[in-house]
Amino acid sequence: MNNDIPLRIDPVLFAKQERQFSGELVVADLPRIVEITPNPATQIVVTMSFSKSSLHYPLVKGTIDGEVVQICQRCLRHTNVAINSQFELLLVSGAAVESASQEGHEVFEYNEQHIDTVDFLEQEIILALPIVPKHSLLEECSASAQKWIKNKEHVPADQPKENPFAKLKDLNI
Ligand SMILES: [Zn+2]
Repeated sequence: MNNDIPLRIDPVLFAKQERQFSGELVVADLPRIVEITPNPATQIVVTMSFSKSSLHYPLVKGTIDGEVVQICQRCLRHTNVAINSQFELLLVSGAAVESASQEGHEVFEYNEQHIDTVDFLEQEIILALPIVPKHSLLEECSASAQKWIKNKEHVPADQPKENPFAKLKDLNI
């Protein structure tokens, strides 16, 4: 796949020209994702298409598909977390944010004339990642983690809890 993703986005111009981009990135190109992955070698495929919303704000629709390696919070081994994310965002700055948000789309606010593409994609990828990453199947976790969790599951149901007030009766207060 050709990578024709521009380094920076000019929302107004791209919407006017109805530009479309697609490309493949390596996680290593995305510094904020590098910080949260033990292996930045995985790939992310991105598509973006620009148009104008009904109120003529720049609108970007796109997809992000790929994998990010994360640390499984059950067994602390690496797990490949799949990302299949779609976004549809109005790109607006400053004073336009309030009126644009009435259009019913999510709004991405920017302050300079351009949006840094990497910033934008990093934000969308972080939103798509789970808060607590873990292997999708327990069977994929380390044997010791599986054993630990299965043992916890087999703990017999709680005994009926002693009523803390029962003791007070004995005390005759
Ligand atoms: Zn695991």
